[in-house]
Amino acid sequence: MPRIPGGEITPEKLIVIGEVARDFGLYTKITGGQRIDLFGARVEQLPLIWTRLVDAGFESGHAYGKSLRTVKSCVGQSWCRYGVQDSVRMAIDLELRYRGLRSPHKLKSAVSGCARECAEAQSKDFGIIATANGWNLYVGGNGGATPRHADLLAQDLSDAELVRLIDRFLMFYIRTADRLERTSVWLERIPGGLDHIRDVVVHDSLGICEELESLMTAHVANYRDEWTETINDPEKLARFVSFVNAPDTPDPVVGFVPERDQIKPDLPLLTIGHRPLEGSAQR
Ligand code: SF4
Repeated sequence: MPRIPGGEITPEKLIVIGEVARDFGLYTKITGGQRIDLFGARVEQLPLIWTRLVDAGFESGHAYGKSLRTVKSCVGQSWCRYGVQDSVRMAIDLELRYRGLRSPHKLKSAVSGCARECAEAQSKDFGIIATANGWNLYVGGNGGATPRHADLLAQDLSDAELVRLIDRFLMFYIRTADRLERTSVWLERIPGGLDHIRDVVVHDSLGICEELESLMTAHVANYRDEWTETINDPEKLARFVSFVNAPDTPDPVVGFVPERDQIKPDLPLLTIGHRPLEGSAQR
């Protein structure tokens, strides 16, 4: 899945996604995070698909990682009469800053251009809502099986204050949360909860904010696109085969059948591939 920062994309790039999907016979769907799923690629096709997308200016969207997924946005003051800030620009800036950031669990974000909240920022790990004076920052929101509205961490922030607070918040979370612990669970688990987090990241009660900021600065400076690195590395490219001892043989249990003018996995075929060995215990 290619990154589409802030959910904003040019017609030219949309056409490239469509052409790649058509040429490789992929299933396409618009996601809730304002990007485009491309499903149904065989492992040996991935480098070819990534090369086409990278050549057109795309990069990995990290849909596979415990890392930042998307920063979605509403159209904001450029196109909406209610907008009080440029929510798209802020969403793009934040997505490009935190892309590739590995974390205890996936990270989702959104930016709304006014209190009407069309981007649903309060359901995100860190969500931003524009005000007449700047930005309100919410943290610890979550959708999923246990929905949780985010808590207001700070209000009426300037652009620079907002980014600095998010830098600190994310690094504090990354450094103290358990593996696979979303921000919503972490925020309710740690002693002192939201008040403690606010003390640490807003008032620097532990004296660690400089360190948290420098960690984020290092992340931003060292970011590399993993698709580009892979297609330029022969050693990594050699892994994109179904069988290491038969690199030209595609996996026979990966197949597709038609549905609504696209494809879907051929599940009976997949089941054959996962049939337990005779005599093995069933669970
Ligand atoms: S959140 Fe506000 S600015 Fe954004 S689209 Fe909705 S009404 Fe418009």
